[in-house]
Amino acid sequence: MIFHSTKNKNLTASLEEAIFHSLPPDNGLYMPENIPQIDPEFLNNIETRSFKEIAIEVTHTLLAEDLSRDEVTAIIDTAYNFDAPVVQISPSNYVLELFHGPSMAFKDFGARFMAALMSHFLLRSNKQINILVATSGDTGGAVAQGFYKVPGISVTILYPSGKVSDIQEKQLTTLGQNVTAIEVDGTFDDCQNLVKEAFLDSELNAKFNLASANSINIARLIPQSFYYFAAYSQLKGLNKPLVFSVPSGNFGNLSAGLLAYRMGLPVERFLAATNVNNAVPRYLTNGSFEPVASIATISNAMDVGNPSNFVRMTRFFNDDWNLVKEKISGYFFNDEQTQKTIREIFGNTNYVLCPHTAIAYKALEEFRQQHHSEFTGVFLSTAHPAKFIDLVEETLGKSVDVPERLKSLLSLEKVAVKMDTSFLSFKKLLMNHLR
Ligand SMILES: *Cc1c(COP(=O)(O)O)cnc(C)c1O
Repeated sequence: MIFHSTKNKNLTASLEEAIFHSLPPDNGLYMPENIPQIDPEFLNNIETRSFKEIAIEVTHTLLAEDLSRDEVTAIIDTAYNFDAPVVQISPSNYVLELFHGPSMAFKDFGARFMAALMSHFLLRSNKQINILVATSGDTGGAVAQGFYKVPGISVTILYPSGKVSDIQEKQLTTLGQNVTAIEVDGTFDDCQNLVKEAFLDSELNAKFNLASANSINIARLIPQSFYYFAAYSQLKGLNKPLVFSVPSGNFGNLSAGLLAYRMGLPVERFLAATNVNNAVPRYLTNGSFEPVASIATISNAMDVGNPSNFVRMTRFFNDDWNLVKEKISGYFFNDEQTQKTIREIFGNTNYVLCPHTAIAYKALEEFRQQHHSEFTGVFLSTAHPAKFIDLVEETLGKSVDVPERLKSLLSLEKVAVKMDTSFLSFKKLLMNHLR
């Protein structure tokens, strides 16, 4: 597959270049030049396919020029020992559970595919790749787990001290081996700025192969389209149009849904569900995109003022606002509404939602009140509620179950390098530490 920059169609890259360089040199984002169509015969029988079979078919459709079917199968086999079940919540609403991977957030789907794909390319060379990633919580855990012990790759994760949950911190700091956690005495923005500065530093780049594992990397976007197909396969028998509600921050997840749609997946509508960081819902209402500084909320993985995948999202519609708003509706909710939704759903169904997922449910409910046509609603659950245990227990006024996988983490010893926010400290550390 050929990719080009969103800023310049003549600036192209191969799959290998796009995943290892992450960003085109003009600071645009890589987009597929052409989007191949999924085989209609495959869609007709998709209900008979497993998650892995769907992932293999979608990847093979997109990357047939880059990988043989056997290579695709090996990558998918390495990446996924978990899938994406839908669970019925009410007569016409289903939750797509994306938290069955090792870090119990949907970012496992992207991180594990990316790790398997990179290691496929690295097997043919002797290169050493150094992944740098800043995290506000979930990305770090998924990337750490995804790249753990992958030969030829080291991972350095920067996280803001005291600003991630206990479980999230343990996910980053207890693996060791090729995973190094840096506890920065600052905010998420400080972490992100340090990483950005490292990518621009000529001395570091001359010495090391640096790569990003944030959702700007196309290798994280492609695999997130798999579970839209998987939801369709599980709900196709209902014979109703599908509406997907996506809890969104950087809009990688929703963009992946659009990729699936452009490949031929029948989708009636997407809902862009955010917290008060609502640059995209505002754009959908008035046509102008005005990014602002982020505001802290209880759905903190979506506290993004300037969503990095916005350009990809609109590019799927040739940047035509009228076309975008025909397919995507925006909704946003504050913390109080989020907590009220967590309580209501638990009261009605006994199902516990994480705060991000609650926002997606609420958007679906609002959309349903405005549209009386028949459709099947699917809201994406991006994290297991136990990852936000303190908030969820406080909201419900009762204790909730923590899966063994998360519980056992809490007794492990945290190992992190403490650092201030100066780039000199970071550079010195990388110089001593990277290979
Ligand atoms: C990362 C994350 C999101 C936001 O996903 P985007 O692809 O950035 O829009 C939502 N919920 C959770 C739990 C997350 O970790």
